[in-house]
Amino acid sequence: MKKVLEELHNQIKELSPVARLMAVSKTHPYCAIEEAYGLGERLFGENKVQEVESKFPKMEDRASDMDVHLIGHLQSNKVKKAVTLVNSIDSVDSLKLLRQINKRAQEANIVMNVLLEYNTSGDENKSGFDSYTSIKEALIESKNMENICVNGLMTLGPLAVSENETKASFNLLKDISIRLVDETGVKLKELSMGMSGDYKIALECESTIIRVGTKIFGHRDYSKK
Ligand SMILES: *Cc1c(COP(=O)(O)O)cnc(C)c1O
Repeated sequence: MKKVLEELHNQIKELSPVARLMAVSKTHPYCAIEEAYGLGERLFGENKVQEVESKFPKMEDRASDMDVHLIGHLQSNKVKKAVTLVNSIDSVDSLKLLRQINKRAQEANIVMNVLLEYNTSGDENKSGFDSYTSIKEALIESKNMENICVNGLMTLGPLAVSENETKASFNLLKDISIRLVDETGVKLKELSMGMSGDYKIALECESTIIRVGTKIFGHRDYSKK
C-alpha cells in the first residue's frame, strides 16, 4: 500500500498540486483504513451509512483529523444517522435530500458539509442532478439553509468509454461549477472527480479530490457482505 500511495501522491504533485487524495475504503476492513491512516492518509470515502456505522469508531472516538465522507447514494431514512457519522456528504443528488440533511443537521446542532452530485454522463442508471436548472435551484435554496455548507460538486465519469468521453464529462463538471459560481455567488471550491481508472484524466481536468479505491486497497469482494 505504501508504494501505491507514494505513486499516487507523486502523480498528484505533478499534474495538479492542489488536488487531494480520497482513499475509498468501502468493503475493506477497518484495519486497512488504519494502515492508510498510518501512512498519512486522512480523507476516506465510504458508500453506505450502515457500513460506516459498523466499521468506524463513533465520530468522537476517531482521530480528530480523520475526514470521512459519504460518496454513495443516500436514502431519506438514513439521513438522520448519516449526519452523526460522516464529516461530509458528497453525493447529494436532489433538492429534497438537501432539505432533509439541513433539517437533521439542525436537530443535531451541526453544519453539514456537502457536495452536489451532477450526472455528467447522461447515464440514466447514475444518480445526480441531471439538469443545470435543477442543480442551480438547489444551490440557490442552499444559501438559506443554515445547517448546510455546499463546498463543491462531484461526478462519476462514464465507465468503459474513450478518454475523450471521460474528458468531456469532467470538463462539463468544471464548466458547470464555473457557471454556478458566477450565477449564484456561492463559492464552490471542490471538484470531486476521478477514480482508479480515470484519475489521471481527472487531474488534468482540474479535479480537487480524486476518489481512489481499488488501486489502494485492491479488488472488492462483495460476496462477504
Ligand atoms: C467505489 C467508488 C470509487 C472508487 O472506485 P475505484 O474504481 O475502486 O477506485 C469512487 N467513487 C465512488 C462514488 C465509488 O462508489
